Amino acid sequence: MLYPKLQIDRDKIAKNTKIIVDKCKAQGLEVAGVTKVFCGHPELAQAYIDGGVDYLADSRIENLIKLKDFNIDKILLRLPMKSEVDLVVQYANISLNSELETIRLLSKTALAQGDSHKIILMVDLGDLREGYFHEEDLYRAVEEILELKGVELIGLGTNLTCYGGVLPDEDNLTRLVEMGENIREKYRVDLEIISGGNSSSLDLILKKKMVKGINHIRLGESLVLGRETFHGRQIDQTHDDAFKLMVELIEVKEKPSIPIGEIGMDAFGNKPTFTDRGIRKRMIGAIGKQDIDFTTMKPIDRDLIILGASSDHLLIDGSDSKIDYRLGDIIEFTLSYGGILSSMTSEYIKKEII
Ligand SMILES: *Cc1c(COP(=O)(O)O)cnc(C)c1O
Repeated sequence: MLYPKLQIDRDKIAKNTKIIVDKCKAQGLEVAGVTKVFCGHPELAQAYIDGGVDYLADSRIENLIKLKDFNIDKILLRLPMKSEVDLVVQYANISLNSELETIRLLSKTALAQGDSHKIILMVDLGDLREGYFHEEDLYRAVEEILELKGVELIGLGTNLTCYGGVLPDEDNLTRLVEMGENIREKYRVDLEIISGGNSSSLDLILKKKMVKGINHIRLGESLVLGRETFHGRQIDQTHDDAFKLMVELIEVKEKPSIPIGEIGMDAFGNKPTFTDRGIRKRMIGAIGKQDIDFTTMKPIDRDLIILGASSDHLLIDGSDSKIDYRLGDIIEFTLSYGGILSSMTSEYIKKEII
């Protein structure tokens, strides 16, 4: 079984990473390479390391466990579940946190394991996902953490453009830097990390406008696709096709473009609509909705039209292509971030690293 196949070009990921990490370093920022989009695959994590990242980071502890043999600091990005603190202390050096109750457990667990664990406190600057929303609550948490043994407070972080779509800017990031300053002064603690967000904060760095005091950024999408996500612009000399999805054709026939008969619901309970383009060369690819949302796929042959999909079939119009596709031919697609993620998690899609 060879197809569908996700073909991953390791060197392109390493090259994207190097180009972007160099730009961040030039502005005084360290980079955490976020591995969740490729499920913590060690060979691809190695490409990040070859490209110069300072940390590996993932939202799932299962993925960090796969990375246990790398001698580099690992960050758990999603707030730890209380039920997983044992694994968190064992496999992550650092975690992002916003709940004292969890931090107390991390402290107890680290002491029991004879280990220590580093904490970055998350601040919600308005995107309304994780983090302290009220400044007083943040300072109260800092006071208590400084009393706890087994855990060390090393920084503040924020996450933007994830739930609420709030963009990073001078105002919100300056607030984060100021909170860091307040904590340093008031509690005489050496906060080494002020982590200013994800790939949507990269644009500020590329424009050399990152707020002074932000010295850390966590990047996933920009490393794998070579783009910042503030405007979605491709970064010079990077590749957007390090991940290519390859799909085999299982039927190629001339057929009308409008179904014949009364139209009811499709397999997913929606009433479909159609554009009449006459008789067309219709092709079926062996992949479907249970593997991937077809709107995240873009044919590399720009003359192909994706018509739709059912659970296991992708319908493609090949009439306008210069290529005369035949049964058994392989069609290649580039993917969005979501497309890469679902291809990586579908057990039916084979992975090949080149
Ligand atoms: C996923 C994630 C990132 C990386 O986001 P990208 O947009 O892929 O760069 C950074 N921080 C946190 C907390 C995340 O969950």
